[in-house]
Amino acid sequence: MGKLTLTDINKYFKTVHAVKDVSFDVEEGEFISLLGPSGCGKTTTLRMVAGFEEVSSGVIHLADREITYDQPFQRNTGMVFQNYALFPHMTVEQNIAFGLRMRKADPARIPDRVGRALDLIQLPGYEQRMPHELSGGQQQRIALARALAIEPAVLLLDEPLSNLDAKLREDMRIEIKQIQKKVGITSVFVTHDQEEALILSDRILVMHEGRIVESGTPLDIYSHPTSAFAASFIGHSNVMQGTMSELDTEQLVVTTEGGLVVRGPKNPQLSIGDQVLVFVRQERMSIHTGAPDGSSTQNLIPAEVLIHTFVGPTIEYICRAGGHELRIRRPNEGHIPRVSAGQHVHISWEPSDCIVIRQ
Ligand code: ADP
Ligand code: MG
Repeated sequence: MGKLTLTDINKYFKTVHAVKDVSFDVEEGEFISLLGPSGCGKTTTLRMVAGFEEVSSGVIHLADREITYDQPFQRNTGMVFQNYALFPHMTVEQNIAFGLRMRKADPARIPDRVGRALDLIQLPGYEQRMPHELSGGQQQRIALARALAIEPAVLLLDEPLSNLDAKLREDMRIEIKQIQKKVGITSVFVTHDQEEALILSDRILVMHEGRIVESGTPLDIYSHPTSAFAASFIGHSNVMQGTMSELDTEQLVVTTEGGLVVRGPKNPQLSIGDQVLVFVRQERMSIHTGAPDGSSTQNLIPAEVLIHTFVGPTIEYICRAGGHELRIRRPNEGHIPRVSAGQHVHISWEPSDCIVIRQ
């Protein structure tokens, strides 16, 4: 069984408290991401699971066994590093076989296991190549094959795509997802790239300053974040500060510092007078150039266009509404509304598109 459990993990580097009270489970076969900005403790957490870094406190279990103080090669973990970390003087076959030899696998079975790992990453016949004879994407696939060849209970991936160029990165994330599903391996993926985390994960754990601040499915984390950090780190949002001014059974009303009256979804945890932040995703706002056609239950506010930009798949607007500068991203659906800087328009969005979080 490949369930991974971290319980109250802390890590200090001298005075730096890099990982703070981190606890989470990864179910067998589940793919989770640790998502957060640079320096928030993602790599350190992963390296403690792999055994490359010792915990300062806390306990790690893998497949019903405590592994907190085991040596790396005694743990049933496979790791893929950001910089590939292939052994440059070894062939592809020797690289992939390395973990098997360390674990005293039957030598007679090693060529077969290497061959199967190469089939899985769709590089059959590459056994005798040297790493410098491979492209960056191929090297990263070999690193993945090396991690998988030992048939680990958990696969650990530390920003494995960040050194690849944009197009290849998009292809590789699909490939990683397909391989993970095929093998059914429990996986922990570390990234600062929200799109990677959203696309790949069954569940995302958002990290901030050494702590896990939020966890949920990609849809939950994107649509209903509960922390201001996750709401601003993931996606592109407009943020307005305000005060809770009304509350009924269906809706709440926030009066913003910029003088707008904004309706949001009801929330039993908020009370009148609370200082709040209202987040609205840029793509959830609509722009109206003609007479406003919003319904009376919507947020509908007059605004002035400051800048509009054609980005290809989207068109982006910056508008002034009250004391706020709001950014709006609309899909390019072929029909592009004619607007010019200085034009007066209306902006609308549904109350359910507001994410209201107490400050
Ligand atoms: P991330 O992978 O999220 O970018 P890291 O886990 O690499 O973050 O780092 C978390 C914090 O721990 C950072 O403040 C970093 O500077 C610090 N840190 C990481 N490794 C060491 C180390 N070997 N010695 C001292 N500080 C470290
Ligand atoms: Mg890192």
